[in-house]
Amino acid sequence: MIIVMHADASQEQLEAVVNRVVDAGMKTHVSRGETRTIVGCIGDEARVRELALHSLPGVQDVLPVEKPYKLASREFAAEPTVLPLGSGTVGDGAFAVIAGPCSVEGRDMLVKTARSVKAAGAVALRGGAFKPRTSPYAFRGLGLRALEMLAEVRDETGLPIVTEVMDTRHVSLVSQYADVLQIGTRSMQNFPLLSEVGKSDKLVLLKRGMSATLDDFLLAAEYVMNAGNAKVILCERGIRTFERAMRNTLDIGAVPYLKRETHLPVIVDPSHAAGERRLVHPLALAAVAVGADGLLVEVHPDPDSALSDGDQSLDFSAFANLMHAALAVRAAIQAAPRDL
Ligand code: PEP
Ligand code: MN
Repeated sequence: MIIVMHADASQEQLEAVVNRVVDAGMKTHVSRGETRTIVGCIGDEARVRELALHSLPGVQDVLPVEKPYKLASREFAAEPTVLPLGSGTVGDGAFAVIAGPCSVEGRDMLVKTARSVKAAGAVALRGGAFKPRTSPYAFRGLGLRALEMLAEVRDETGLPIVTEVMDTRHVSLVSQYADVLQIGTRSMQNFPLLSEVGKSDKLVLLKRGMSATLDDFLLAAEYVMNAGNAKVILCERGIRTFERAMRNTLDIGAVPYLKRETHLPVIVDPSHAAGERRLVHPLALAAVAVGADGLLVEVHPDPDSALSDGDQSLDFSAFANLMHAALAVRAAIQAAPRDL
């Protein structure tokens, strides 16, 4: 942490700042420039953050040097994290596509979708059993029945299951059926839930909160990791901005930024970003082009009759097309010269 003093800060004010930091058990290094004095703090930055230094007289700015997240930071791990997912892996360039319906609506549609997305190259099946819906009157999922169907379809197709858990009380139940616990955008800062999935041995697919900064997002991952589970996949799914033309604004820059800041795999959900079928394909390709480790795509046998998110769901042939195009973009990117 670096503390920048006001140009007219007095010697007493400087000493008060230094004493506050030293009393918290840290060392200081005072550097006097022509116009400004800067106090460098050496030691555990988390402790300085608690000191409310901003409000001390004479202090102009307090600048962090260390990242607030540690376990999730790139510096913490020598290599990028690669996680097993079904017959494949996710992370460090192993491109993993997870596809399936927004909600599990029945066994038949689930089996059909699983077979079709598997044939097209998906490595895991998604499907919501407990749905976070903005309106309490909307379809909120089939719950336990959907979990049972997901597990049956896994047995039939071999595809691992990705499904959302919304409630700390459901983590152990959902873990009995799922291979990957999805934390939805609305739950990204449900800290008890993050800690609870952090105690599980399942992979965690953590979606970015729709109003979360990338620091917030990485700190949410840090919660899961700090509770003991390092198997976290980050998923950019669009954020709320002033733009209302699309359901959300896909923050495409988040992908290369996160891949620089963290060793965790980063995937993109173009479906919830777009909110509209025709935009899913180009957004997915953009995600591949910026280096996403995979995609999460909503696919439905008959999107127009879907009980949730039909507008943004692809039918089987659109998904197969998308897979072809995504692999072509990936090959082109891998062949392109690297940015130095
Ligand atoms: C979903 O994946 O169906 C979902 C509800 O996603 P999000 O939490 O990103 O809205
Ligand atoms: Mn959905």
